[in-house]
Amino acid sequence: MTTSSVPSKPLAPQIDDLLTCVHCGFCLPACPTYEILGSENDSPRGRLYLMRAVAEGRLEVDDRSFGRHLDRCLGCRACEPVCPSGVRYGSLLEHARGERVTASGPLVRAAGIPIDLFFGNRWLGLLGWLALRLLRASGIPRLIARAGRAGRMPGHLRFAMAMLAATAPRARGALRGVRRRRRREGTWRSADAVGGPPDGELVALLEGCVMWGLFRHVNHATERLVHAQGVRTVRLPPGLCCGALHAHAGRLEMARELARRMIAAIENSGARLLVTNSAGCSAAIKDYGEWLRDDPIYRERAERVGRLVRNASEWLVERPQLGYRSLSARLGYDAPCHLLHAQRIDEPPVELLAQVPDLEVVKLPRSERCCGAAGLYGLLRRRLSEDILLRKLGEVLETDVDVVATGNPGCLMQIGAGALVHHIPVQAIHPIELLAGLLESD
Ligand code: SF4
Ligand code: SF4
Repeated sequence: MTTSSVPSKPLAPQIDDLLTCVHCGFCLPACPTYEILGSENDSPRGRLYLMRAVAEGRLEVDDRSFGRHLDRCLGCRACEPVCPSGVRYGSLLEHARGERVTASGPLVRAAGIPIDLFFGNRWLGLLGWLALRLLRASGIPRLIARAGRAGRMPGHLRFAMAMLAATAPRARGALRGVRRRRRREGTWRSADAVGGPPDGELVALLEGCVMWGLFRHVNHATERLVHAQGVRTVRLPPGLCCGALHAHAGRLEMARELARRMIAAIENSGARLLVTNSAGCSAAIKDYGEWLRDDPIYRERAERVGRLVRNASEWLVERPQLGYRSLSARLGYDAPCHLLHAQRIDEPPVELLAQVPDLEVVKLPRSERCCGAAGLYGLLRRRLSEDILLRKLGEVLETDVDVVATGNPGCLMQIGAGALVHHIPVQAIHPIELLAGLLESD
């Protein structure tokens, strides 16, 4: 670790938040990277200490060791709920990564441009997603994923193909009729509300970027459950990204720009509530007030929109119970970090799944533990991500479940891909997809 004779203090505005850490160490057992690496600098307390050193000018923000320990953080926020001082670790991590991006050279900044283009330019993004869907439909990703030996750590390409293959619809039979109906109605609507009485309640549905690109079946399933509640829906434009991936990577300006676009789209929808099925998206939108607190035009609008968003499980569990067909199976629930730790939503998905007759629902033994997906972490930090994933897969085997349910695209891809490449006969499914596939009204 190097110190500089000319100290810079890029995290100085966060010093009050940093000083709320009293170094008690209660967060250490909750941290997956500390569990595996056993190093203080790879624990929440250690990383906060390094951020404080930067804020106080004792450490340069572009110090390589600082960057290494920040990069190893999953951003899972498991350290937040267990912290007696209420340290806002997730927000501090985003600021620290943002300062590193600002201080980085042109080459590092240029490396983020493809992500900005893919998620920031809707038309480029839509083309990219369509190409990925075609590749998925070819069956090649699945063949590549299954080609290696079981138990052997997969390379980047094989795991990426496995992640793509893991996005295929699971409740295929049950949703077939819906997809036919959807084709008759057109691929998407943004202006006209559908479902429910014309003067009835209206909610906006987030199509999203990854969710629209690779999990449209889950978006359709969400819409069906909302309609089954007699509520009308209006869809936000496809490809519209919430900015979560950019914020996690420290590309804060792009994240804020995407948040402004999202706020305008939600306001224009005419709905008084936004329902999303992606834990990462609902967590990000709930944080918009924080992201845009220095923007005089958007600050209040961001806070208002943050209060309008509901995760689909959070919304559905408050509504009248729907009728589901029975399913004789044993299901393991794994909590997405950005649902459990960032939004503190624990029981609603389990309570909803428990409404299915004959379905035995159990939480995985360490359901609160990250699966190692964490945005692009699963691809960029393969070794550490694989170590974390193998523990999760061990719990899946130990619990002897037929299927794993989890409500976030990254987790679905990570666990689904892990099962594929390690030849474990368990599929990962979004709880909403499973519920919609069993709706009695079909
Ligand atoms: S982050 Fe919270 S739990 Fe962890 S050492 Fe600091 S005060 Fe203690
Ligand atoms: S966000 Fe997760 S990986 Fe990062 S310090 Fe907190 S518990 Fe550890």
